[in-house]
Amino acid sequence: MKTTNPIDAARIELLLSDLRLPAIKLMWPKLAQQSDKEGWPAARFLAALAEHEIADRGRRRIERHLAEARLPVGKTLDSFDFEAVPMVSKAQVMALTAGDSWLEKGANLLLFGPPGGGKSHLAAAIGLALVEHGWRVLFMRTSDLVQRLQIARRELALESTLAKLDKYHLLILDDIVYVSKDQAETSVLFELIGSRYERRSMLITANQPFGDWGKVFPDQAMTLAAIDRLVHHSTIFEMNVESYRRRAALDRKRGPGRPPTHATIKEKG
Ligand code: ADP
Ligand code: MG
Repeated sequence: MKTTNPIDAARIELLLSDLRLPAIKLMWPKLAQQSDKEGWPAARFLAALAEHEIADRGRRRIERHLAEARLPVGKTLDSFDFEAVPMVSKAQVMALTAGDSWLEKGANLLLFGPPGGGKSHLAAAIGLALVEHGWRVLFMRTSDLVQRLQIARRELALESTLAKLDKYHLLILDDIVYVSKDQAETSVLFELIGSRYERRSMLITANQPFGDWGKVFPDQAMTLAAIDRLVHHSTIFEMNVESYRRRAALDRKRGPGRPPTHATIKEKG
């Protein structure tokens, strides 16, 4: 059997580094050996190398998108108990995680419900699944994003900052109603909503339904216009359940052998 000359091997490593083909650089000695041993046609060897590089590139891209998404850790669809929120259909959520049907047209997803009901968890879990399916996502507490946009505006860079957010197919704004009502602050939020309208999607969570959004925007006209744009193309989940944390604590207190709270709630419903 032929073996690779060590000088050739060193040269190949250098060339592959220059070409930025790390997966091929890692795999080629093993594949070359197998190819020599089994007498592969050259085209098969080349295809095998290229396939490794492509697969690795896809994995690295998703890793990058995962890091930039700033999702809270550990909030996955697997760990989300759909039985606790019977009004949210698991099948519908799974369909949304494919992304195409709504992210391509810039539609929105709105999650409403009292604190502890699982809005942030579900939002993060949907974000994670979308990243895994190749979409780009950014998760932010709304108040942090508003602060960032305010700074941008002071530096006369609001427009370019909003444009930079366009790279994210989905912007998750957690807790919109926590934003304090201050003209300068909330009009940047209004501009964000306007800039993404019908182009780029948003997922917004709120403890209060629209009736209380007057607290978020400076005046009623802006509140109505913001809501109008958000709902125009949207899916709304009303997660009106008791706090999951509180229920989990109660379950622990009741001890083993008792039915979980969500089963009790289902019977009532
Ligand atoms: P919200 O954002 O609505 O205030 P969170 O998503 O922060 O609520 O939920 C509070 C805690 O309870 C989190 O630790 C979350 O992971 C957990 N939790 C809430 N709902 C569920 C659920 N249906 N299944 C699993 N964990 C849940
Ligand atoms: Mg929350």
